[in-house]
Amino acid sequence: MNGCLFCEIISGKRQTERVYEDEHCLAFRDINPQAPVHLLIIPRVHLGSLNEIDAAPDGLLHRLMRAAHEIAKQLKLDQKGYRIVINTGPQGGQTVFHLHIHLLGGRQMHWPPG
Ligand code: AMP
Ligand code: ZN
Repeated sequence: MNGCLFCEIISGKRQTERVYEDEHCLAFRDINPQAPVHLLIIPRVHLGSLNEIDAAPDGLLHRLMRAAHEIAKQLKLDQKGYRIVINTGPQGGQTVFHLHIHLLGGRQMHWPPG
């Protein structure tokens, strides 16, 4: 989608180090990390937010979650634990309107989140 920051990362117009990629999604480091490990996992297709999930190809969310788990295993976060976050809409704290999963780990997480 024109003018979408994350679509520019997918197309290669904007450079970033890809820590994981497959047919459906890719992952890269968040520019403003909130934990020792803070990655963003994004689908290759543009969806503005989780609110558009009905327009997504079947099984896409499952693919994203599998990718998150695969990355967590590769980084050896799976035993100690990690957090998956999908901020949705302005009050949900979403600032980039291309669906993405935050994968946070490497420190103790707290509840409730801010
Ligand atoms: P959200 O607030 O859930 O929409 O998350 C958007 C995230 O994208 C924030 O954590 C930002 O730090 C991150 N971000 C914004 N621009 C970039 C970029 N060019 N590369 C990596 N992460 C970015
Ligand atoms: Zn996009």
